[in-house]
Amino acid sequence: MNKKDFRKYAHELVDWMADYMEQKESYPVTPQVSPGEIYQQLPNDAPEVPASFETIFKDFEEIIMPGISHWQHPAFFGYFPANNSEPSILAEMLMATLGAQCMSWLTSPAATELEEKVVEWLRDAKGLDSNWKGVIQDTASTATLCAILAAREKASGFSINQKGYSGKEKYRVYSSLHVHSSVDKAMRIVGLGEENLVKINVDKSFAMDPEALELAIKADLKKGYKPICVVSALGTTSSTAIDPIDTIGDICIQYNLWHHIDAAYAGTALLLPEYRWMSKGHDKADSYVFNPHKWMFTNFDCSVLYVKDAQHLVHTFSMTPEYLKTSHDQDVNNYRDWGIQLGRRFRALKLWFVLRSYGLEGIRKKLRVHLSLTQSLVNLVENESNLELVSPIPLNTICFRFVDKSFGLEKLNEINQRWMESVNATGKAFFTHTKLDKKYCIRWVIGQTDVNQSHIDKTWTLLMEILEDIIEPNN
Ligand SMILES: *Cc1c(COP(=O)(O)O)cnc(C)c1O
Repeated sequence: MNKKDFRKYAHELVDWMADYMEQKESYPVTPQVSPGEIYQQLPNDAPEVPASFETIFKDFEEIIMPGISHWQHPAFFGYFPANNSEPSILAEMLMATLGAQCMSWLTSPAATELEEKVVEWLRDAKGLDSNWKGVIQDTASTATLCAILAAREKASGFSINQKGYSGKEKYRVYSSLHVHSSVDKAMRIVGLGEENLVKINVDKSFAMDPEALELAIKADLKKGYKPICVVSALGTTSSTAIDPIDTIGDICIQYNLWHHIDAAYAGTALLLPEYRWMSKGHDKADSYVFNPHKWMFTNFDCSVLYVKDAQHLVHTFSMTPEYLKTSHDQDVNNYRDWGIQLGRRFRALKLWFVLRSYGLEGIRKKLRVHLSLTQSLVNLVENESNLELVSPIPLNTICFRFVDKSFGLEKLNEINQRWMESVNATGKAFFTHTKLDKKYCIRWVIGQTDVNQSHIDKTWTLLMEILEDIIEPNN
């Protein structure tokens, strides 16, 4: 593509993007395609000859778009959102244009220094400990993996990186039963083994029971295990339960354990002073992760890892072969030494654009809209005698289900599943589920950039209509 055509098509694409942002509600939230349907439309062999941009774009519209799930649709209520925003998208365009590789200070000084600044801004805006240092990673999965690796290296006197496991370590890591699967996966990758992730019981609000944690640590010590780390959740994935960070922090100090706080989704709420109770005692922890790419209007991917002592990360990850040495290494941050990747994207740019374009004030305002929409929905659910809220609602995730005394658990689970799947099949809204105390419930997460009362109301009506069809099919 020549420079002249690039300008022409870039303008066309920007128009397409602006149209999409205006019309995203007109698409079905999730596509009705079956497995293989997109794959079969693509040629068997890579193209040998160049295609015109018009042809490529036509295929994008005709083959790709019909198979897209519209994560930015305001009625996409499943999982956690991966929301975006106009300033974030514009920054992403610049990032791709510059194509900067941000592995060390020298490879793009502005990228490193902007990253240092925006993670400090966010740290302070969230009321996190001002001594902490931050680094942007791709995902919370990676950030948590880094934290557990650093915990392992600290516990072993930084010897496993050098010598490998001796076979005598018997290390243990602790989390609640509701831990995110990325922690189980990290146990595999770190080589500690999934069985050495000890899952602690939760209380009625699905938060970790700290007494049970201490008992488990003591029992392990007696059996000759070596506890090294606790991963607590500031907002579990199932129901945004808030583990008691403060008490867990005390236990970690007492037993000399690394405390990693997984605030991947809910961490954004700390921008609101009224939610700071959730993070009380966080300053005793060693690391903390949250994803601006979930609920902070920054398009995927962008996850921020904070650590109390960056040297633990650097000791764990620093590798400096001759070809990467620079004369500034003593005076600068080389973020490649703070994680797994060598090559790094310029993600700080989108955070900067988002933070400046909304201002903290604008972000807080949007978060409060989501939280108040959630309260309006809670009222609706509470007013229906055959619906039940299955967990407390500290934030903007509601777990609810249909209940009826004449049905047992299995039948209820089946009805609720059928209910959710029927709603999703309309393409008008999208939900995902979880199980709490074996009860199948629908999760409704209200964190889309453009979600408003009308989307809640319309979706509520849809849910009620479909429920009626399911429980009284003859009416
Ligand atoms: C979403 C989520 C993760 C994983 O986030 P990724 O950035 O996709 O790796 C981890 N922990 C919790 C609590 C989450 O909600």
